[in-house]
Order: sequence, then C-alpha cells, then structure tokens
Amino acid sequence: MKCIIPGRESVLERARAAYLGLAIGDALGATTEFMTPSEIKATYKVHRKITGGGWLYLKPGQVTDDTEMSLALGQALLTARQWHLQGIADNFLAWMKSKPVDIGATCRRGIRDYMLKGQLETPHNEWDAGNGAAMRMAPVALFTLGNKREMVHCAREQAHLTHNHPLSDATCIAIGEMVQKAILGGDRFELHEITRNLVAEYGTFRFHNYRGNATAYVVDTLQTVFHHLFTTGSFEECLIGVVNQGGDADTTGAIAGMIAGAFYGLDAIPARWVRKLKREVREEVESQAVQLVKLSPWGALHT
Ligand code: MN
Ligand code: MN
Repeated sequence: MKCIIPGRESVLERARAAYLGLAIGDALGATTEFMTPSEIKATYKVHRKITGGGWLYLKPGQVTDDTEMSLALGQALLTARQWHLQGIADNFLAWMKSKPVDIGATCRRGIRDYMLKGQLETPHNEWDAGNGAAMRMAPVALFTLGNKREMVHCAREQAHLTHNHPLSDATCIAIGEMVQKAILGGDRFELHEITRNLVAEYGTFRFHNYRGNATAYVVDTLQTVFHHLFTTGSFEECLIGVVNQGGDADTTGAIAGMIAGAFYGLDAIPARWVRKLKREVREEVESQAVQLVKLSPWGALHT
C-alpha cells in the first residue's frame, strides 16, 4: 500500500470540504426529494442549481435535518471537548423542540424516548435500517480522525440514540471510514476497498448493476452514493448524479457530499454552490470542521 503523508493544511481543508459537501448535498438535494428521476427530468431536465423549493418549500440555500442534526452533534462535542453522548442527546432534543423544517419518524421516536425515559440506546428494531443515523456521520468522522476504533465505537453510540439495526451500523461505519480515509489522502482504490469489505460482510450492499432505487433505506442510500461516486470524476458530477436520482435526494446528496468533499477537496466544490448556501450554515460547518479535527487523535499529533 502506498504511504502518503498529507500536510496539516490539506487535512484541515479536506475536513472543511467534507462538512461543506454535506450541507451542499442537503441543500441541492432537498429540491428533488421524493421525486422520481422522470419527474425531475420533466421539471428541470437536469437539476444542478441550489434553488430551494421541493416538498418542504425551502428558501434557496436552506438546509434540512441532515445538516442540522450534524451541527447539533458536532456542537455537543465542541462544548464538552470530548465524546459526550448525553450532550448529543440534549442537543438533539433542543433541536427537535425548535420545530425543525423536517424530522424523520425514527429520529423523532428516539429523541422522544430520551426525553421521556432518559434512554440513550434505542432497542434493536427491525425497522431501524433508515439512513437517519448515517446522515450525521461527518462530525463523528472528523472528531475521531486518526483512530478507527474510536470512530467505530462513536458511530454506533450516536446511531443508537435513534436507530439500532446492523445495516444502519454498518452504513455509519463505512461512511466514517470513507470520510476519514479520503481526508487523509486515500485514493479511489482505497475508498473502493472499504465498499468491498462492506459487501463481503453484507452482500445486500452490492452496487454493480445499480437499479436506481434511492430511498431512505440504508442499502438503497449507499448503493446510490457508491454508484455515483465511482462512476464520476468530480465532486460536481457526483452530486448532480445523486440528486437527479430523486427519492431521499437530500440525504443521498448529504452523504455523497461528505465523502466526495473529503475526496476531491475544497477547490473542487463549485463556487456557485458555496455562495448559495445560507451564510450562517456555511460559516458553522467550516468552523466546526476545523475545531473537531483539532480535537481529534490526528489533531492532537498535528495541530
Ligand atoms: Mn433532510
Ligand atoms: Mn432526507
């Protein structure tokens, strides 16, 4: 295996790009959420602008639960300066009470159970294989950068606040690995290797002959993200491919955005998308990204 030691600045830039990519994918994809590819084609030909709208009637550049829950999680870690599951749960609860523009049913149930019973781990549930825990992996990947075991542990703990299913866990962990690998300069083959290991463990994630299902089920979500990640050559092309698949487009967009952002880097993110993103969101994701990496095991050695 090649050994490339990336510079400190490039790591911090890629971390910012990962978090920015998440918010951009969310803002871009929210427009086509729950549409079919043919409806998208009839309306936009190709959807490639951050215009808001969609079923949530968003303003251009507005983000949804995917970015908001990530920011709530990241803020809890920055406040505690360490892994703090109850702090995360408290921030999720405060966020839920703030009447967010959207909240998934499984997330709502988990947060309610925390509110009513103080429960920090929802019991295993057959129906918990939605992508609601996976969509908030960016801050976890940044905070645990440099220590995969810690990432795996934290990924499961944060996921189980709302979702407890082996396929959701495996998805969270694969996303965390891919984001971390890409931030540290991993190439396309190394990212693909992570998907092969996932498929070896759970064959259901196999994504060659992708059939276009882009629902919130973690298998459909990851197949959509992987298909477009590995069949395109830029951040822009990858995200446009994903959000034009419709379905859970804001979340597939957010997950593709965090991986492709980390992989292609800050300069590859189209300036017109960065400019359209709501300014407070843009500032908060970039600031959290740098601070989280500084608190990480990698940051302790390099910053
Ligand atoms: Mn959303
Ligand atoms: Mn969604």
